Amino acid sequence: MNIGDSTRVENLLTVDAKSNDPVLWDKKRVAVIGMARSGFAVARLLARHGARVTGSDVRDAGEIGLDVGRLEQDGVLLFLGPEQTMNLSEIELVVVSPGIPPSAPLYEEARERGLPIFSELEVASRFAAAPMAAVTGTNGKSTTVTVLGALIEALGHEVAVAGNVGRALSEAVESVPKSGFLVVEVSSFQLEAVSSFHPRTAAILNLAPDHMDRYPSFKDYVDAKLRIFSRQRSGDTAVLPAGDERLAGVGSDFSGRVLHFGGDSVTEGFALAGGNLVKRQSGGETSLVSRETLSLPGTHNHLNMAAALCLLEGLGLDATDPRVLKTLTTVRGLPHRMEMLGVHDGVAFYNDSKATNPDSLRVALESFSKPVVLIAGGRAKGGGYRELGPVIERRVKGIVLLGEAEPMLEEAWSGTGVPLVRAGADLENAVKLAFELARKSGAGVLFSPGCASFDMFRDYEDRGDRFRALVHRGVATR
Ligand code: ADP
Repeated sequence: MNIGDSTRVENLLTVDAKSNDPVLWDKKRVAVIGMARSGFAVARLLARHGARVTGSDVRDAGEIGLDVGRLEQDGVLLFLGPEQTMNLSEIELVVVSPGIPPSAPLYEEARERGLPIFSELEVASRFAAAPMAAVTGTNGKSTTVTVLGALIEALGHEVAVAGNVGRALSEAVESVPKSGFLVVEVSSFQLEAVSSFHPRTAAILNLAPDHMDRYPSFKDYVDAKLRIFSRQRSGDTAVLPAGDERLAGVGSDFSGRVLHFGGDSVTEGFALAGGNLVKRQSGGETSLVSRETLSLPGTHNHLNMAAALCLLEGLGLDATDPRVLKTLTTVRGLPHRMEMLGVHDGVAFYNDSKATNPDSLRVALESFSKPVVLIAGGRAKGGGYRELGPVIERRVKGIVLLGEAEPMLEEAWSGTGVPLVRAGADLENAVKLAFELARKSGAGVLFSPGCASFDMFRDYEDRGDRFRALVHRGVATR
């Protein structure tokens, strides 16, 4: 077969093509744009299956932390750095990494040339032997996939949790046999470039304006998320939040099953009702576990757990099994998400650095019954900060502002009457100021920035690690 043989491209694009069939990838010329974690993994996966892979990134290897030796061993050709000159003229298929904006020159060139463009998710999922559960939404994805992974494991099955959290799907996909399960966290970026991605069960957890900078309108953002269900059919299960009008249309022409999670309005699925997590089915209700005993705090986390139970049922597993219910009371949360760091001089410190938008800041505040001093700020993401006024008035004793967003947040929250101080671009100063305010008012300290971290830190993990280190070093108490 010739390299440029169009039937091979056709085969690759055909839905449900057996694309781990070596013939399909053999000698295929693939360009991977963006060589961070998922780009690295997909380049290696395809190279192992015989493709001729070229990887490119505007950053150089040092900046990405790329294992160039590994890629070269696998035969991947690399074009790295701002001056790189990768040429798409010989390329048959392009794989784009999640962080690449549609306006990136190579992405544009690929579109102009009419090349098939796949996301890493699309490619990797074609190699899946095991059934997949996929989770998207604005907030709670990592928590939900982690909980779901723990529940599947508790039932004695093999499972890999992949996506943003843990490993890239391309790295994990071949490690799980047919009898196991794949749990995938999916961003809307990845959903933009899927065609045959077909999870047995999939959830949209919630929709709040986030990443709006990438989409012309909120509807485009919702449409990108809805693609998660586009290949589902009878035997598959869609999982949705109860009562979200914007998603209400999903069920109408959908031939699979729809389960909901949420509050009392749930009829088929899992609900928080009367202080318990309950299963609702065919007009009946079974109480599963008291919400007080769930291991993760806050209504948002209890909803994440309810969504995980819907997904578990969608995979054909029993969500009422005692091992599942036990796990809901023991499963540990992830670092940087409402992570309790300890008590210093009577002041409890919480690291919620993963709160990178106003909505996750709101749920963090709502999950506290005791007052807190809030450290917030960074690089603002869209709007919605002013709307937090009422919950701030209820829960917050003082606010310490940080980073670029200081003036905007001061303006947004000055009407609350809650004392505001600016810490500048200095996290250590913010911790000290928050500690003083907290000690005076008998509150805890919550670091839930509600903004992106990139004005001061590498990413939210770097930001949370620095906060944790400052708290553990006792910076506040000195
Ligand atoms: P994601 O992977 O979608 O970014 P995470 O599970 O890492 O989500 O949580 C991110 C942030 O969002 C955390 O600060 C957390 O407190 C908050 N959060 C978690 N679940 C929800 C939810 N269901 N609704 C709103 N915010 C949530």
